[in-house]
Formats: sequence, C-alpha cells, structure tokens
Amino acid sequence: MTLTLSPHATTSEPEAVVRRRLSGFKPTGRLHLGNYLGAIRPMLDATPEADVESVIMVADMHALTVEHDPQRLRSLTAETLATLLACGIDETSIYVQSDVPEHAELHYLLECATGYGEAARMVQFRQRAAGPDPVRLSLLTYPVLMAADILLHDASEVPVGDDQRQHLELARDVANRFNTRYGRTFTVPRAVHPPVGARIMDLADPTGKMGKSSSLTGSGLIYLLDKPDLVRRKVARAVTDGHGEVVYDRERRPAISNLVEILAACERDDPVATAARFSSYVHLKEALTEAVVDTLAPIQRRYAELINDGGYLDVVRRRGAERVRDRAGRTVARAKQAIGLH
Ligand code: ATP
Ligand code: MG
Repeated sequence: MTLTLSPHATTSEPEAVVRRRLSGFKPTGRLHLGNYLGAIRPMLDATPEADVESVIMVADMHALTVEHDPQRLRSLTAETLATLLACGIDETSIYVQSDVPEHAELHYLLECATGYGEAARMVQFRQRAAGPDPVRLSLLTYPVLMAADILLHDASEVPVGDDQRQHLELARDVANRFNTRYGRTFTVPRAVHPPVGARIMDLADPTGKMGKSSSLTGSGLIYLLDKPDLVRRKVARAVTDGHGEVVYDRERRPAISNLVEILAACERDDPVATAARFSSYVHLKEALTEAVVDTLAPIQRRYAELINDGGYLDVVRRRGAERVRDRAGRTVARAKQAIGLH
C-alpha cells in the first residue's frame, strides 16, 4: 500500500482522540495456558469501554532479539495469529508487527533520542548480558523498539506487568525528551494495570513462570493446542509438594497451589474454595485435566477451522496492516519532520 500524506497530517498534533491500548504477543514459542489465563482471557472478559480502542500485535520483530530459526519464526507467527483469533480476539484489532515497516522506521528515530547508558541500565538486559550466552545488540535496544510500538499508535495507555514497568518508563522518558527537544510529537503513554489474570507457574518447576522461552524441555508448559492426551500426561507429571494435602498457599506449597490456581482460573472460581473441594492430589489432577481440556476444546475447534483457511488469515493480516499503516505513517511523518528529516 502506498501512503499519501497531506501536508496537514505531517504537521498535526498527536491524535489521542481515543484512549488506545496496545498489547503484544511475541512468537518466540507456542501460546500456552499462562498467556491465555493471564492475558488473553482477562482481555476478552474486560467490559469494553466506549472510548478505549484495543490494538493487539503479534510482535514478530521482538522474537529476533534471541536465537531463532527463520522457518520456525514464520510458522509461529502464523500460528500465534490464528490462535489469538481462535481465542476470540477480534479480527479488526489484530496485526503483525513486521507488516508495518513504520515500527522499524520510528525505532531508529527514537534510538537517536535515547542514551546508551539509559538502555544499558535496563534490568532485563543486565541480567541477560551477565549470563553465559552471547547477547544481540537488538536485545539492548528492544525497549526502544517497544517505545516505538507504543508511540506509533499514540497509545495513551499500556497494560504492563511488573517485568515491563521499567521499559515503559523508558518509553515515557524518550517521548518526553523528543517532545521537549523537537516539539510536541508523541502522546506520552501511561502504564495501566492489566485486568487481573492468574499468574501461571511452570508445572515442572513452580518457582518459575510458565513462559514460551523460559523452559528448556517444554514439559512444564501446557500449550493451547495440546491434545487431551498430552494435557493428561503433562498434568500427571506435574510436580507436587509431597505433603499429600491439597491447600492453597503460594509461599509454602507453590507446586500444588499452582495446580489449584489453574483449576480455579479455568472454572472461574476462587482458589481457596477450589482447594477445599479436594482431599487428594489424584482427584485434583483428574479435575484439573478435565477443566483444562474443556477450556481448550473450543479454541482448538476454531483453530482447526482457521488454519485450514489460509486465505482468511492472509486477509486478516493484510487488512490489519492497512488499518495500522495509515495512523503509523502519520506518526512517523510527524517525527521525521520534527527531527529534521523533512
Ligand atoms: P517469553 O518467554 O518469550 O517472554 P511469554 O510466554 O512470557 O514469552 P509474552 O509474549 O512475553 O509470553 O507475553 C504475552 C502475555 O502473556 C503478556 O501479557 C504476559 O504478561 C502474559 N503471560 C506470559 N506468561 C504468563 C504466565 N505464566 N502467567 C500469566 N500471564 C503470562
Ligand atoms: Mg514474557
């Protein structure tokens, strides 16, 4: 698509006529139960607010900051898009990041307004850089790409978990600095608490969260597309605390409490009341398997329909990019003009 920008658009102020909320999912692995119960379902459950527009992005460019295989990234991107749609995300609010080149364009402009020390101070980067594996330069600058993702949309609100709080602060600092140095260009976003969802831990190691790229074997993750037999095996192998009692006590009984919390979340019940219904691990695990299988069944049915209709997914992608590029083009034009490129 070619972008035509009117002279008025290039000098206009940030839009911010609606409150816009941006959420991203990285295709670093397959979507799992933690993503669904912690982020996707609370988003679907939230009562739509008249003046809030939700934008959901498959953040494929962020998946390049770590070791990756190109073919796998391509198929994970398609799978993530289809899985989000299968969960019930509206086709008119979703797009794939790399389909909108303005993300990369604005990323560079923002890099030119970010200090090296500012980026190097980010706790996540420091932790990874201190580890044994080599880190990519893009891992240092990924919070700046995240700032570009947010500022591109004139997003006024960004739902962030604790792990992203520092990165959002960086986005605010960069936006404020750019506005002060070069004239008001960006809407300065503020963090909002996402609708509260469960925090699901790894079934094999309940001290770590269930995460796409944090598990080596994947045995502690339940993927949204896992078939019932596999769900049963993974739940059966889930570690327990070995005390025999079913209680909900995150501190002292992290393993069994995690299983209780997943069951409670699937059944939309309270974890303490859920724990009280069971006197043995075996019965808890049976009920958990059934609840997870029931939760995943409609998603998997819808996914099977979608994935066999490649034409439809292509259309969703193309339309998503077209919708976003209009606004993104205006933001980039404003930023280029302000910084002296136009
Ligand atoms: P990665 O390991 O690559 O960071 P991830 O599984 O953490 O992947 P993200 O794409 O980083 O997934 O996050 C997508 C959304 O899912 C975010 O809103 C994040 O807070 C939420 N989320 C991820 N893991 C969990 C979890 N275990 N419990 C609850 N919410 C989660
Ligand atoms: Mg994550």
